[in-house]
Amino acid sequence: MKSVSLHTLGCKLNYSETSTIAKDFDSKGFILKNYGEPSDIFVLNTCSVTENADKECRQIVRSILRNKPDTYVIVTGCYAQLQPDEIAQIEGVDLVLGISEKMKLFDYIDNFQKKELSCIFRSPVENATGFGEAFSADTDSRTRAFLKIQDGCDYKCTFCTIPFARGKSRSLDLKNVILNAKKIIDSGYKEIILTGVNTGDYNFKNGSKILKLIDVLYELGKLEIERIRISSIEPNLLSDEIISFAKSSEKFCKHFHIPLQSGDGDILKLMKRRYNPDYYFDLIDRLNDEIPSVGIGVDVITGFPGETEKQFRNTLDFLNSLNISYLHVFTFSERRDTEALKLMGRVDVRERRNRTEILRRFSDSRRFDFYSKHIGSRQEVLFEAKNKNGFAEGYTSNYIRVKAESNEELENKICNVILKEADGVNPVSAELIKEKNYA
Ligand code: SF4
Repeated sequence: MKSVSLHTLGCKLNYSETSTIAKDFDSKGFILKNYGEPSDIFVLNTCSVTENADKECRQIVRSILRNKPDTYVIVTGCYAQLQPDEIAQIEGVDLVLGISEKMKLFDYIDNFQKKELSCIFRSPVENATGFGEAFSADTDSRTRAFLKIQDGCDYKCTFCTIPFARGKSRSLDLKNVILNAKKIIDSGYKEIILTGVNTGDYNFKNGSKILKLIDVLYELGKLEIERIRISSIEPNLLSDEIISFAKSSEKFCKHFHIPLQSGDGDILKLMKRRYNPDYYFDLIDRLNDEIPSVGIGVDVITGFPGETEKQFRNTLDFLNSLNISYLHVFTFSERRDTEALKLMGRVDVRERRNRTEILRRFSDSRRFDFYSKHIGSRQEVLFEAKNKNGFAEGYTSNYIRVKAESNEELENKICNVILKEADGVNPVSAELIKEKNYA
């Protein structure tokens, strides 16, 4: 029987899809190998968020073929949808599959025999109306699973290429969301993380009723799952009902990841984002008021076209005014066919990187403050596999990374700990006091 290894670039949504493709191979009797191990077949699920995607794709394919030149190489994902010819030209690529073909991979493969030329199967993005169901494991251990409930995006943020790669917003029937959630629970996972391109835009028409993300949360809340988290949600979609649910549900993790992108109102308008800084400020303020100790992560882009030094400072000042716990900082990169390409005021690449560095340092200090504020507190941690130093590591509900020493196996157990020491870089050291559900 042939062996297969898979690798993902990009977001958790991609990751959940790769996991499902791996399960398909597994159920057909293929031997699953770890990424990097020689295998007969290699599947690369690409991303297209930055311009480095093609470089990374090329490097990965080369290194796989260096190890084993007769590996049958399949490339799929957002980059494959956007630039299939570019990928087909990479020496050694056998099959290129677009977004609509990704989750039906076996329909396009004959006998895994390498040929002279690559084959491309890629429908136009307008045809991407189906829903490839997917869910995945976060780590090797069965603790946290990403459940795909939504795909595509109808927003038109001027920097973003994803709508061209993944198509219009569409959602999984709530019945199937629950069926997949039950499979995850039956496999022993303790946490479900809802994911999508624009997860907050979950919208499923059921008869005369339009089901929203809050309906998904209500239904999931009835299942035997310990924790529910949302991977990321647009600020304009974080509704009052979701905040009330987060406040009252024992299962909902006290953590939100809410893209901001810029703290300057004019740049937000140029980005065509659907809120202004005042709206965002009030939202963060309200979350902190209503959900004590809530962890809040924020996405920011530096060096968007036209972003002056003053506007960057406005973003920094704005971030300083927010009670948040960490940032994910992205350096703006020009993407084909996006509106941002037509905007004036290109920011020098070195300056973009400089701004990114400033915000990364800001993020480190915010994370340190957030962690430090919780030293001495009692928290529940869902532990994952032990790290290479033998410590058990995991996350609190409000997304503090924790490590603890234990002679016992803590993997996939939720335990009470007291947080002891934070340095802002490494996980917080904690003392184990009691396990919640020692199964
Ligand atoms: S919400 Fe904006 S940034 Fe996010 S995927 Fe849609 S268009 Fe891109």
